[in-house]
Amino acid sequence: MHVRLLGTGAADGWPNPWCACASCADARARGSSRRQTSVLVDSAVLLELSPALPPDGVSLAGVRTVLVTHAHPDHCAPAALLWRHWALPHERLTIAGPAAVLEECRPWLAPGSPVDLVEAVPGATLRCSGYEVRVLPADHEVPTVLYDLTGPDGGRLLYATDTGPLPAPAVAAVAGAEFDVVLLEETFGDRLDHGTGHLDLATFPAQLERLRAVGAVTAGTDVVAVHLGHHNPPEAVLTARLAAAGARLLPDGAELRTGAYRRRPWNSDASAAPA
Ligand SMILES: [Zn+2]
Ligand SMILES: [Zn+2]
Repeated sequence: MHVRLLGTGAADGWPNPWCACASCADARARGSSRRQTSVLVDSAVLLELSPALPPDGVSLAGVRTVLVTHAHPDHCAPAALLWRHWALPHERLTIAGPAAVLEECRPWLAPGSPVDLVEAVPGATLRCSGYEVRVLPADHEVPTVLYDLTGPDGGRLLYATDTGPLPAPAVAAVAGAEFDVVLLEETFGDRLDHGTGHLDLATFPAQLERLRAVGAVTAGTDVVAVHLGHHNPPEAVLTARLAAAGARLLPDGAELRTGAYRRRPWNSDASAAPA
């Protein structure tokens, strides 16, 4: 499985274009810019209909399945379907997501266009063009799902944003999964009083512990923090904090290959680099 991070930022990206805080200023000074979180798997499966254009050089022409987590506009910006229609009016596409996502998408589809809208209900398993997609519950402000994706080559990915601490049924559903890659949101950094359905630097490590305890995250799992916002500390500090929890920070455009990342046990060498 080939995983391309199209975006790794929160709803407002990072830096927030309207903000002059130290965290945003640091990102600007380093030329770092994170788009809204979105991921491309094997050039075939797109996670989220992002309002952002993909990083330079990335084509979405091969996408046949789109998995959307929820109807917030940083995840479901259906004007993208119009751009696609102008280029690929006759190619089939399946879009899966909660009912509100499908309602957002429907007005953007041309009459008779070969796009299937499939409701993603927690607990269901969808089969899309050789991929097995298990739908998991999230804890967020609006109906939201997480995706457990297994590819034709057996690679397995957990895509978990947007959510607060994982609902118990989500953790139970991935027991023994031994994911190759876990993309887990960490929106709020050191701001712990946000009171939203998101994770922060206190709740993020706790979720990884729960996933380790059930064998979903192992020493061989590449854990990457996504949906990053400016309440996080500057990147150098955040990198070290995440490493202590067994997770990595990667820039937009980064590529991961399942099976290519193997490290020593996370707590014995927190600074391990990718193999
Ligand atoms: Zn979001
Ligand atoms: Zn959201």
